[in-house]
Amino acid sequence: MLTVLNPATEEPLAELEQAGLEETDAAVARAKAAFPAWRAIAPADRARLLRRLATLVEEHGEELARIESRNVGKPIAGARAEIGMVAQVFHFYAGAVDKHYGETIPVAGGVDVTFREPLGVVGLIVPWNFPLNIASWKLGPALATGNTVVLKPAELTPLSALRLAELALAAGIPDGVVNVLVGKGSVVGARLVEHPDVAKIGFTGSTEVGRTVMEGAAATIKRVTLELGGKSANLVFADADLEQAAAAAPYAVFDNAGQDCCARSRILVERSAYDRFLDLLVAATRAVKVGDPEDDATEMGPLISASHRETVASFVQDEPLFRGETPNGRGFWYPCTLVEASNSDRIAREEVFGPVAAVIPFADEEEAVRLANDTPYGLSGSIWTRDGARALRVARALESGVLSVNSNSSVRVSTPFGGMKQSGFGRELGMHALDGYSEVKNVYLATDA
Ligand code: NAD
Repeated sequence: MLTVLNPATEEPLAELEQAGLEETDAAVARAKAAFPAWRAIAPADRARLLRRLATLVEEHGEELARIESRNVGKPIAGARAEIGMVAQVFHFYAGAVDKHYGETIPVAGGVDVTFREPLGVVGLIVPWNFPLNIASWKLGPALATGNTVVLKPAELTPLSALRLAELALAAGIPDGVVNVLVGKGSVVGARLVEHPDVAKIGFTGSTEVGRTVMEGAAATIKRVTLELGGKSANLVFADADLEQAAAAAPYAVFDNAGQDCCARSRILVERSAYDRFLDLLVAATRAVKVGDPEDDATEMGPLISASHRETVASFVQDEPLFRGETPNGRGFWYPCTLVEASNSDRIAREEVFGPVAAVIPFADEEEAVRLANDTPYGLSGSIWTRDGARALRVARALESGVLSVNSNSSVRVSTPFGGMKQSGFGRELGMHALDGYSEVKNVYLATDA
C-alpha cells in the first residue's frame, strides 16, 4: 500500500493500492484496445470531448485545487492558477484537433500528401511538483492527435490524476482512452518504457531518470520527449529597473518552494549594481509569506518530503546571506535562503529544487553569457535590461529553451516549452507539442495516365 501525505502537516491523505507489472500490462492492453475507435472518431467530436473535459475541470476547479494544495503542500492561490491552466490546456487542444494538418507537396507525375498519424499508446510519466499541470501538457496534445494514454503520476502525488481520470470518463471520453496507474517509477514507469505496445514516452522528471528512460526506450526505438532538470539564470544588468527585477526575483526561485524546473536559482548581477540589488533582493525575500498552504495569502509552503528537505539542506553549509522564517511544528518546512556564490560552487552547478538561490556577480555582458551557459542544463532564464538590442543579443546567445525579458514568466498555454542540453528535448504546449505526439506519413499518388 502507498500512504499519501500532506507535506504541510505530515498527516496521511490516502492509502492506495500500487500497480505492479501485471496491472501495467493490463492498462497498456486497455489503451491499445481503445486506440482504433479513438483515432477514428470525427475530429469535431474529439474536440467536443476535450472541450467537455476542460469545462469539467473548470467546474471542479476548487476541488482539484484543494487536492493539489494538500498533496503537494502548495499555496492554494497557486494551486488555483495551476488548475486554471489545466482547463485552458484542454480548451487549447480541443481547438487544435482540426488545425494540425498535413501538406500537399509539388511533385512530378502525381500528387504528394502528408498525414499526421497518431502514434498509438503513449506512456506519460510525470513528477510531483506540478502534478496535474504537467500531466495536462502531455494529455492535451496526446489525446488531440488521437493517441490513447497510460499516465503514471509520481508516487508522492497521485491524487489529482486519479480525479482527472474520473472527470475524463464523465466528459464522455471512452473507457480505455485515459488510464492512470499509481505505482513506483522503477516498476510501472520502467515497464511502460520497455513495453513493446507503448509507442512513445512523454517524460518529465530529473535528468538522472530521464537518462534511464532514454536508454530503456532504445530497445524498442520508442519515441521520447524529455523535460528534465534546470539550473536557470536570472541575468540582471546594471541598466535594468533594479526595483522591479529585485521585487520579482524571489518569486522566480521560491515559488512552489523552489521545486520548479524553471526556477531562476542562479541570480547573476552586474557588479556595478551588485550592492544596491542585493539590498533590494534581501528586502523582497524577507517579504515572502511562508505558511499554511490553505491560507489565501500564503506565497510559499513546505517541501514535498522529509528526505527532500535533507537534500535541500545539504546545499547550505555556511552561514547564508539571508535565511527566512518558517512555521514551527510539523511539516517539511525550509526557509527562503540566499547564498553568495561563485559559478563553480556546488550550489550553482546542481539543481537544488528547493528555496535556495545563489547570487553571483558578473563584470560585463560577455561574462554574463559565459556564466549563464556554464551549466549542463538549458531550460529557462530571464534577462533584465532596458537596452532592447542587448536583450535580444543575450537571448540569442543563451543556450536555453525558454526565456523571458524584464519578466520571469515564460510558460504559456500557446507557446512552446522545453529544454536544450541536458534539460531534455522535445517541446510541450502550443502547436509544437502536437508534433511530438504524431508521426508524419508521406503518400504519393500517381495521376499520370
Ligand atoms: P524523478 O525523475 O525522480 O521522477 C519523475 C517520474 O519518473 C516519477 O513519476 C517517477 O516515479 C518516475 N520514475 C522514476 N524512476 C523511473 C524509471 N526507472 N523508469 C521510469 N520512470 C521512473 O523526478 P521528481 O523528483 O518526481 O521531479 C523532480 C525533477 O523533475 C527535477 O529534476 C525537475 O527539474 C524535473 N522537472 C522538470 C520539468 C520540465 O518540464 N523540464 C518540470 C518539472 C520537473
